[in-house]
Amino acid sequence: MTFRAPKGTDDILPPASRTWRRLLLMWEDWAARYGYDLVLLPFFETTEVFARGVGESTEVVQKQMYTFEDKGGRSLTLRPEGTASVVRAFLETGADGILKAAYSGAMFRYERPQAGRRRQFYQVGVEYLGSRAAAADAEVIELGYRYLTDAGVPGLSVLVNSIGDRVCRPAYLEVLKEYLKERRAVLCDDSLTRLESNPMRVLDCKVCAPRLSDAPSPVDHLCMECATHYDEVRAALRDMDVPYEEAPRLVRGLDYYERTAFEYVATDLETAQNAVGGGGRYDGLAELLGGKPVPGVGFALGLDRMVLTLFEVEELEPLDVYIVVAGDRRGDGAKLASNLRYEGIRTDLDVEGRSVKAQFRAADRRGAATALVVGDEWDDGRVVVKDLATGRQEVILKEEVAAWTRRT
Ligand SMILES: [Zn+2]
Ligand SMILES: [Zn+2]
Repeated sequence: MTFRAPKGTDDILPPASRTWRRLLLMWEDWAARYGYDLVLLPFFETTEVFARGVGESTEVVQKQMYTFEDKGGRSLTLRPEGTASVVRAFLETGADGILKAAYSGAMFRYERPQAGRRRQFYQVGVEYLGSRAAAADAEVIELGYRYLTDAGVPGLSVLVNSIGDRVCRPAYLEVLKEYLKERRAVLCDDSLTRLESNPMRVLDCKVCAPRLSDAPSPVDHLCMECATHYDEVRAALRDMDVPYEEAPRLVRGLDYYERTAFEYVATDLETAQNAVGGGGRYDGLAELLGGKPVPGVGFALGLDRMVLTLFEVEELEPLDVYIVVAGDRRGDGAKLASNLRYEGIRTDLDVEGRSVKAQFRAADRRGAATALVVGDEWDDGRVVVKDLATGRQEVILKEEVAAWTRRT
C-alpha cells in the first residue's frame, strides 16, 4: 500500500523548495525593513471568526472552508486567510495603538485544484492595524511591490482602486444593482444569487466581468473623505516611485474591505490566476468580530503563484562547499565541516564512506559551488579546493578555506 499527498496539496521538495526558502528569507528581511514584527497565530480558529470576518455571503465561507467539530464539540475552521486571525488576536490583547504584523504560512480552502490554486496554499502578508492614514495604505502597497520586485516576479503591475466605505458604498451599490438587474440575461448563476447579497462581487466574476466593462465604478461614487483618502494614497505612491495602474472595477473577494483595494498582477503568468496577491483597507473588520473599531490595511501574497512565475529562471547554489574525503580522512573532513559551518558557510559531506568519485557526483547533484578534497595534504595543513563550475583547482591552507569560499 502506498499513500499520496491529499488532492490539492503539494510536497515541496528540493530543488524546488530552494526557491521557497529564498522567498521566505527575503520576506523576513523585507517585512523587518518596514518595521513589521512577526506574528505566529493558530492554524485554526472558531468558525465564527471567519464566518463574520470574511463574510457569510462570500464563496470562501459558503463553499471553501475546512470546518470540523473537535472532540469537545467546538466548530473549528482551518484558516482560509490570515487577516481575520490577526485582527482577532489584536482585539484579544485589549491593546490600543499600532500593531504592524507580518506573517507567513499555510492557508486552506476547498477549491477545485489547478496550477496556482491549491487546497493548502502558502501566503506571506502584513497587517497595519490602528491607523486610518493614507500613508499606511501606501506603505503597505510599497512593501509588497518592493518584495515582489526583489523576488524577481516578472511583468509585475500594481492595480489600485477605492471601493468606498460605509458612508458612500450603499448608494453606489443601489446604482450597481440597477445596472446589473438590466443585464440579468448575461449573468452567470452565481452572480444572479449575489446580485442582492453582494453585488460588488459580480464585478469580480471571471465569467461575467468581461460583459460588464461599462459597469458603474465605485470610484465615481466616493464621498469626500474617501476621495481625499484615495488621492493621498496615489500621491504617496508617486512620491515613492511605485508604479501603479488605476483599476476602477477592481474589487476584493472578501466583505471586509473599505476604501483602498489593490492587487499585484504578474502579467507573464500563463494561467488565469495571474494575481500574485492583493489586499486593501478593512476599517470595519474589528467591529464585525465584535470588537472596538480598529482600522487596518494589509495584503497577502501567494507563494505558490510567485513560484510559478519564477521556477524556470531559478539558479541556486544550495551549498557553498561539499567536502570530499579521501581514504581514512573522515574525522578530518568532519572537523573541517564543523569549522566551516560555524563560519556561516553552507557545507555538507558524505558520511557513508563512499568512493571519491561518488562523492564528487554527490557534490554536483547537491549543487555545491566548491568541492574541498581532504587527502594527504591535510597533514601539511592544506586542502585541495575545486571550483565546480570552472574546474579550477588549487591547494591552499586550511585556514584560508573560509576566505577562498567567500571570494568565489
Ligand atoms: Zn458570473
Ligand atoms: Zn466614502
